[in-house]
Amino acid sequence: MAEEIKNEATVNIPELLASQKEFFEAGNTLDVSERIARLKKLKNVIESKEQEISAALFADFRKPEFETYATETALILSELKYTIKKLRKWAKPKKVKSTLLNFPSKDFIYPQPYGNVLILAPWNYPFQLSVSPAIGALAAGNTVMIKPSEYAPATSSLTKEIFAEVFPEEHAAVLLGGVEVSQELLEQKWDYVFFTGSVPVGRIVAKAIAPNLTPSTLELGGKNPCIIHRSAKIDLAAKRIVWGKFINAGQTCISPDYVLIDKKKKTEFTEAVKSEIKAAFGEEIKKSPDYARIINRKNFERLQAMLEGQTIITGGETSPGDNYIAPTLINEPSFDSEVMQDEIFGPILPVLSYSEEPEIEKIISRYPDPLALYVFAEDKEFSEKTLQRYRFGGGASNDVVVHIANKNLPFGGVGSSGYGGYHGKFSFETFTHKKSISKRATWLDIPLRYAPYKGKLPLIKKVMKRL
Ligand code: NAD
Repeated sequence: MAEEIKNEATVNIPELLASQKEFFEAGNTLDVSERIARLKKLKNVIESKEQEISAALFADFRKPEFETYATETALILSELKYTIKKLRKWAKPKKVKSTLLNFPSKDFIYPQPYGNVLILAPWNYPFQLSVSPAIGALAAGNTVMIKPSEYAPATSSLTKEIFAEVFPEEHAAVLLGGVEVSQELLEQKWDYVFFTGSVPVGRIVAKAIAPNLTPSTLELGGKNPCIIHRSAKIDLAAKRIVWGKFINAGQTCISPDYVLIDKKKKTEFTEAVKSEIKAAFGEEIKKSPDYARIINRKNFERLQAMLEGQTIITGGETSPGDNYIAPTLINEPSFDSEVMQDEIFGPILPVLSYSEEPEIEKIISRYPDPLALYVFAEDKEFSEKTLQRYRFGGGASNDVVVHIANKNLPFGGVGSSGYGGYHGKFSFETFTHKKSISKRATWLDIPLRYAPYKGKLPLIKKVMKRL
């Protein structure tokens, strides 16, 4: 599997940022037609490199070509197409209603790019999670510096090559390297920071940018519950969960972390999961071209340790030579075990059961707000009650993961799974300051607000009551 990437010792980060500041301040990113032209070029280059993107992800962690297309390239191309189509409209000042207080006036919201944006990305969807926020930031008229993950070196290098083909580096640059490069980047003053990664590193990022009061989005992780009610269509639930849990070998921030199922349905569910795993990956899963590997030895060992002492329902095979871990179901792990402490982020699915509904809440409330929550139920009342009851980033009923694919839905966390959202128009808004502008008329000047105030209080009270 992939070797870790070397740091780009040759890049002078303060100098590169200074060139981006100069580029922005000279107004070079403001022309909307130019932004659209660059995004179109980015789209063309990505389309021309579709095969190379698949090969890079295969080199990094044997990600199947189908999964790379569906979850990385196609998502990015669709985001680009949509942004190119809508950008002119989004970038226009919006007229809003004015109020009696500042009559006569015409009031507007002017979209204003923040300036110089830093994007720090993780390894698990290394292309999509580096490029998707960059599309929003560039569409909104910012400059961008992207630091993709050191753990997906082939994809990170290709991302750099793609951006270098489309943008001068004072407009958008990709910097390769690990933690030291991230740290040096975080020492600089940015106008916006967009971080995707783990909760502990999210905290480091938030702390590092606090002295400059830098606005930010943190896209983090968590333990995502997947609740299965007795009314659920168990076979379909098993099929969809097998897909969403084992895609990318479980290394998906919104994959179900653990299943919480009605005790009476547990055996039916685990049997259905076994046959769905077989249907998807065959008898010899290790030989399946449709099953990815764990990104590196460190994560492989972390996951392997989670299996120790557990009752395996199915799977459990591991092979360190190629960082393979079979799709694995474990039975009722204790809450003290490692697998129930932190986000799993791999192809291991604990199956917990409940007898009475109040037990669900007790289990979910053990953990901080998750990034996603899923509920499988034909009982609409139960489903709706569950979706409304808990705080989580986003989710689905009767499916998993799919909410990420709709660009009309903002994607992001809440509480410890992060803050801010993006995709589609939400990406443009994330990277845009909304400037309030009142355009006052000069043909009338109502004297009420001016001192001396003597005798004016009753009148202002009357006016304010009408608002
Ligand atoms: P990570 O937090 O280890 O790394 C993310 C980025 O931060 C990398 O570019 C890395 O170089 C950098 N980094 C690491 N340590 C740092 C430090 N001490 N100081 C500054 N920068 C540092 O995350 P990861 O292992 O790459 O990704 C897995 C995590 O990301 C999981 O927790 C997953 O849930 C989360 N994730 C969230 C989303 C989302 O959209 N919310 C998407 C994918 C992954």
